Amino acid sequence: MYAQMLCGLIMRNEVLRVGAVFASGLLRAIHFLQNNWKQLAHDIATGTLNPKITDAPVRECMRKILKPNPELAQFVTMECYEENWECIIKRIWPRTKYLDVIVTGAMAQYIPTLEYYSGGLPMACTMYASSECYFGLNLNPMCKPSEVTYTIMPNMAYFEFLPHGSSTSCLVDLADVEVGKEYELILTTYAGLCRYRVGDILRVTGFHNAAPQFRFIRRKNVLLSIESDKTDEAELQNAIENASLLMKEFNTSVVEYTSYADTKQIPGHYVIYWELLVKDSANAPTDDVLNRCCLQMEESLNSVYRQSRVADNSIGPLEIRVVENGTFEELMDYAISRGASINQYKVPRCVSFTPIMELLNSRVVSKHFSPDLPHWTPERRR
Ligand code: AMP
Repeated sequence: MYAQMLCGLIMRNEVLRVGAVFASGLLRAIHFLQNNWKQLAHDIATGTLNPKITDAPVRECMRKILKPNPELAQFVTMECYEENWECIIKRIWPRTKYLDVIVTGAMAQYIPTLEYYSGGLPMACTMYASSECYFGLNLNPMCKPSEVTYTIMPNMAYFEFLPHGSSTSCLVDLADVEVGKEYELILTTYAGLCRYRVGDILRVTGFHNAAPQFRFIRRKNVLLSIESDKTDEAELQNAIENASLLMKEFNTSVVEYTSYADTKQIPGHYVIYWELLVKDSANAPTDDVLNRCCLQMEESLNSVYRQSRVADNSIGPLEIRVVENGTFEELMDYAISRGASINQYKVPRCVSFTPIMELLNSRVVSKHFSPDLPHWTPERRR
């Protein structure tokens, strides 16, 4: 990443698009620049490569590219030295036309942060794919992230669909899916996977000629459950977005989050770990605001959750634990050290693995609890 960033800086006037497969990867690159700009500027000024880069072929390639350029080094220093990194992508790479990055599904939460760093550049989600198989393309890549649909490419594998939320377990063929319905994607690949459940839920939005188009809805698995409540990824994401609105006037956003169902005490409760981007430290959200964020999250969760909180007292007040900046990057480093691919890494939206819990808990800077009960009224069943 160091050598790639160096090339990006040296050729800053030639760069037309900036991207990574997933939004989380692009943000990691921006944080990398934040942490390493001094060394990078030094290398540009002197035309030498940091000795920490030990890979011989990389050193050889960089030797051909690097020439002392004090002017560029000064420019990089001036731009990166400032605490304000708003629009940094456009400032460093002024010809960038768009961000080439997936911001659908779990990646949607990074949109505000990417808008901040890019000054509102369009984000093109071009593909829907996995390690096991390439699934589909976005035929209208410059559309808004909320309107992205993927057209499945029928030659990539044999695709079947399990209707989601219905009692039938009959698989539907690609040609027979119906608009508006949600399905779980099932795959039979040339490499040998047979009726493999990818774990994604998709909704049919229409057709391109005869090929169905799908919106990525969410991963299938339920994330959090204390008793009969079931909170999935999309719901948690929505609750985070609603709570984040309370921090808008403090110029603060949630850059990363994960969750944990804490059942060590009775009643158990949801714990949400937040890493925040506070753009104006003199006007950071107060304790009271963060407490209200807890309540706002609860208000956004499903009625079974709220019933358990209000009527059954079987779930305790939701807790937000704010963690130090850089904690989620450490989490990623840990996953990579255990074999995860840097390009495909996704922050786990729910954690329970002890070393990860220990890491998160050791970085907590403040804890906040919901100060009140969320609204809940019994629904009349007909
Ligand atoms: P991996 O095999 O680790 O690359 O992960 C594949 C998974 O990433 C898919 O099953 C989806 O859950 C997710 N994914 C891939 N492409 C997209 C996309 N365009 N939008 C939302 N989620 C995606």
